[in-house]
Amino acid sequence: DAPAGQPTRVLLKLSGEVFGGGAVGVDPEVVKGIAGQIAEVVVNDGVQVAIVVGGGNFFRGAELQHHGMDRARGDYMGMLGTVMNCLALQDFLEHLDVDTRVQTAITMGQVAEPYIPRRAARHLEKGRVVIFGAGAGMPYFTTDTVAAQRALEIGCDRLLMGKNGVDGVYEADPRKDPSARKYRSITYADVLRQRLNVADPAAFSLCMDNQLPIVVFGLGEPNGIARAIRGETIGTLVAS
Ligand code: UDP
Repeated sequence: DAPAGQPTRVLLKLSGEVFGGGAVGVDPEVVKGIAGQIAEVVVNDGVQVAIVVGGGNFFRGAELQHHGMDRARGDYMGMLGTVMNCLALQDFLEHLDVDTRVQTAITMGQVAEPYIPRRAARHLEKGRVVIFGAGAGMPYFTTDTVAAQRALEIGCDRLLMGKNGVDGVYEADPRKDPSARKYRSITYADVLRQRLNVADPAAFSLCMDNQLPIVVFGLGEPNGIARAIRGETIGTLVAS
């Protein structure tokens, strides 16, 4: 079971796919809904929220490579896609009077601050939502890994992995085996032993090595983001 008590600073990873609502680009209604849930907990519960946004609704370097593009260039396109998602989320949060800052791992001074961890921490202390874009700024990485790294560097209590199409960690792939049961909680060791897919391996090992609890939950669940941020029992808690 999830430990009692509300986390005070969390890192929310939002998959890019959810921003597109199943299509390429940004679906404003979806982003509005996400922003509404985040605004509610920041305003009412005072949780400090940092966010890493994916970019799968625009480009994935590995997929572009299949079409003959240079992998690193495709990965940079992927990273730039995440920034568009960040700006959309920033916009809808600011419509709700939530102060935000976007920090990017690739410098683009006209649209965002550069990634400066101590400054990010200061924004969070002031109640601003900090949205991290452009991944790690490095090809061959994923935004899952960046989420784990940012969570560790800025001292988050938990990594909240918001997934598209799956609402937790199951004993087997629920799409192939509909009778597979969902874990409410599981240890890092059991995830490894059972070869379960929680996050990409680099992200998972960063969390395990540094004892950072991960909550895997579904972005499609009603009010799922707000509940995960509040520390309610939702999805699957992965911890030691
Ligand atoms: N990417 C990258 N380095 C990073 C983060 C992302 O090269 O540090 C690229 C990579 O091509 C990736 C794409 O950006 O496929 C979009 O990110 P990701 O696939 O993690 O997004 P999500 O699956 O969460 O939508």
